[in-house]
Amino acid sequence: MLTNRQLFLLHIGQTSASPLMLEIEKAEGIYMYSPGGEKYIDLISGVSVSNTGHRHPKVVEAVKSQVDSYLHLMVYGEMVQSPQVKYAQRLAELLPASLNVCYFVNSGSEAVEGALKLSKNFTRRSRIIYFRNSYHGGTHGAMSVQGSEKFRNGFRPLLPDTFQIDFNDFSSLSSIDNHTACVITEPVQAEAGVVYPSPGFLEEIRERCTREGALLIFDESQTGFGRTGHLFAIDKFGVFPDILVLAKALGGGMPLGAFISSKEIMSSLINGPGLGHITTFGGHPVCCAAGLASLEVILEENLTASCPEKSSLFRKELSHPAISEIRGDGLLMAVKLDNPDLVQKTVRHAPEFGLILDYFLFCDDSFRIAPPLIIGSREIVTACGKVKELLDTVIKNQAGR
Ligand code: PMP
Repeated sequence: MLTNRQLFLLHIGQTSASPLMLEIEKAEGIYMYSPGGEKYIDLISGVSVSNTGHRHPKVVEAVKSQVDSYLHLMVYGEMVQSPQVKYAQRLAELLPASLNVCYFVNSGSEAVEGALKLSKNFTRRSRIIYFRNSYHGGTHGAMSVQGSEKFRNGFRPLLPDTFQIDFNDFSSLSSIDNHTACVITEPVQAEAGVVYPSPGFLEEIRERCTREGALLIFDESQTGFGRTGHLFAIDKFGVFPDILVLAKALGGGMPLGAFISSKEIMSSLINGPGLGHITTFGGHPVCCAAGLASLEVILEENLTASCPEKSSLFRKELSHPAISEIRGDGLLMAVKLDNPDLVQKTVRHAPEFGLILDYFLFCDDSFRIAPPLIIGSREIVTACGKVKELLDTVIKNQAGR
């Protein structure tokens, strides 16, 4: 009989030539467990999803309770489903007044598709400006605004009238003009290796968009729900978009995305020409129930406030000669190694040291640390000890080759 690992390679569509191939039987809190009883500290939250940890009891309870009431009823937007309504209302309470209408979808990519379509629909313009090394998802529209030629080249032609500029290059912002439908950016570029905006950069984008009548889209798929030490990065920077994209932690471990805007902007999906975005499962009631429960945990346990402190502890404990820099002052961090050749090896050997780590799509010299926000001080110290042991071993093996 074939093992699950063999069946995985045989029947599951693969995109990586060398998948991690870890089999997990159970996950709880910050830990994952293999069928053989090995225990792993999850330092990436798979990726930036499990902000309240795996299977938080309140999230599990909300899922069970919704499963007992109803699952899928009807395509999005036709029936009043209380888990959607409650979640949208709660988000509206927590976001600026101009971001009070929520369109729920299934994923970050779909939310980006919705946001781009909404911008074109509302402005009646077609040009989309995006940034080098940005990541917004794997669908065709999202790939068209993904700032890496390497990933895009296999899939051309992509969307026309898209234009790439450099993050933190103020001079490139002059390309935002009265032909621009929208500018899409992550407030903190995640897959670029946690690149923060220079002071004034987001403000300058905001100002230009307002002046030229272009919409500003912030994609907070990774930064949302506490990772930067604020519930949303827009609170940290005090710059507000016309459309906010949320995903990943939005569903508390269930698949959920959303694009959020004002009534005025969102209404163009009704009027121009109607049914401006259609999704069967978007805003699935079980996912909305889970997401709302997870959000309430973040708020009740004040998980955002402890983020910078935990980030500092990581920084203090991760003092190691191989580490040259740690970027990110919340729980979305990039650990830069002196020798970029060691990054992939570090990630690959992490499970042998009881750790789950990950690399970045567009930053070869750093690996990612983005644990569940519930991680405690003692667990951070233990995890950092293991990371240092891991680095020592990877360096020793490299030297011995
Ligand atoms: N936007 C950002 C910033 C992301 O990091 C991701 C996923 N890594 C996406 C969008 C796409 O989300 P999904 O994989 O849910 O489609």
